[in-house]
Amino acid sequence: MALLILDRDGVINLDSDNYIRTPEEWIPIPGSLKAIADLTRAGFRVAIATNQSGLSRHFFTLDTLEKIHGKLCQMVEEEGGTVAGIFYCPHLPEEGCHCRKPATGLLEAIEAELGESAIGAYFVGDSLKDLQAAQSHGCIPILVKTGKGRNTLAALATDRLSDKPQLARLDGTAVYESLIEASRAILKARRIPPE
Ligand SMILES: [Mg+2]
Ligand SMILES: [Zn+2]
Repeated sequence: MALLILDRDGVINLDSDNYIRTPEEWIPIPGSLKAIADLTRAGFRVAIATNQSGLSRHFFTLDTLEKIHGKLCQMVEEEGGTVAGIFYCPHLPEEGCHCRKPATGLLEAIEAELGESAIGAYFVGDSLKDLQAAQSHGCIPILVKTGKGRNTLAALATDRLSDKPQLARLDGTAVYESLIEASRAILKARRIPPE
């Protein structure tokens, strides 16, 4: 079984600049639940790695976050999929923790908990932090245009034209409209041709 890692906000559910604070505000992006179900059926173990600084900002409690994740998992299961685990960073950016993406602590936690290496695993995200964490850890970054994705794409393009590009290494990142499109491409790439 191969690990596959997803960011949460802007990839699986609609993002909000105001944070997702309640289960009611957690609304899946069309096709994202089916994508997780299709990937599960194809043998992927789908884990989620998400920055949730809203916890430290007291925008929601741990209890509420667990309820939000309960809703997520239930809706995925209703589509026939499974979430192998949801791993979150509760810290503020200025705390300098090792788990907030673009750091790679969440990926290490996934490996420890699920007993499998994430090196070479697909990591689908909508923000630069996702792509950077993926690349630092040796995952294959995939950008989706949902959530912050279009802005991220523009940032990558602008950086490429600058005098001292920081993000040149992300030049080859695959880009898809949304998670369902990304999942179709992943499943197609993985299909073993008939003999
Ligand atoms: Mg995101
Ligand atoms: Zn953290």
